[in-house]
Amino acid sequence: MHQPDPQKLSLNTATVRQQWTLDKIIEGCARHEIRGISPWRDQVAALGLSQTRQLIKQHQLTVTGYCRGGMFPGIDAAHRQRQWQDNQRAVDEALELDAACLVLVVGGLPAGSKDLAGARSQVRDGLSALLEYSRPRGMPLAIEPLHPMYAADRACVNTLAQANDLCDELGDDGLGLAVDLYHTWWDPNFQREITRAGLKRLLAFHICDWLNPTQDLLEDRGMMGDGVIDIRGFRQAVEALGYDGFHEVEIFSKSNWWTRDPDEVLRVCKARHQEHG
Ligand code: ZN
Repeated sequence: MHQPDPQKLSLNTATVRQQWTLDKIIEGCARHEIRGISPWRDQVAALGLSQTRQLIKQHQLTVTGYCRGGMFPGIDAAHRQRQWQDNQRAVDEALELDAACLVLVVGGLPAGSKDLAGARSQVRDGLSALLEYSRPRGMPLAIEPLHPMYAADRACVNTLAQANDLCDELGDDGLGLAVDLYHTWWDPNFQREITRAGLKRLLAFHICDWLNPTQDLLEDRGMMGDGVIDIRGFRQAVEALGYDGFHEVEIFSKSNWWTRDPDEVLRVCKARHQEHG
């Protein structure tokens, strides 16, 4: 089995967010026969939750993840309390959209702090509290380890091993991993840690490419095939563990893909998924 199943392609809506509003993205997915979608909260808020739900149902798309919750560390208890309430709303919205999981970008250092270990323990505590809310409601939480270049501002969980440790500690009922190749391809323990995670914890699989050189830390992700990640090899590694979920394309690209005709972007996503995914 070399080619990926084209039915498994999912579009993270950030990929064309500069060109299209969410209703147009949903219709674009349907038109291009992309069966999965992973929307962002700000886009859903702009379109309206019930309108989003209705359009997605109408086009029979699968919501492969909801972006995003997390950002657990805060400067004080009041900040963390607000964040906890916002995360509860994210769980509720994910349920309303029948999302496969709520993706968690766990947060970095609180403003002014140099206490990385403290931030990591705040992540554990915040996650533990959110699980008390999400578990009885049946919404899985997917911890997305981010590349260590984001440890300060976005996520202090940076490896699959850290995410697996959290699952071990907090229990993996309703808790697992979003494996994003952009963030994890460099990890020498990738195979060991996805094996350790096992099928149960593999809640989402995100693809794009790492450009060499990369011009921007956040918004210069590559289209599959334009960079150095062996996407096919990694996809086959997760499928060897039994993963048969979606392959979610997530590309932030302010100087390239965000400037192109979005229909062209979706056509290229489909073609590159077949060629390199
Ligand atoms: Zn991702």
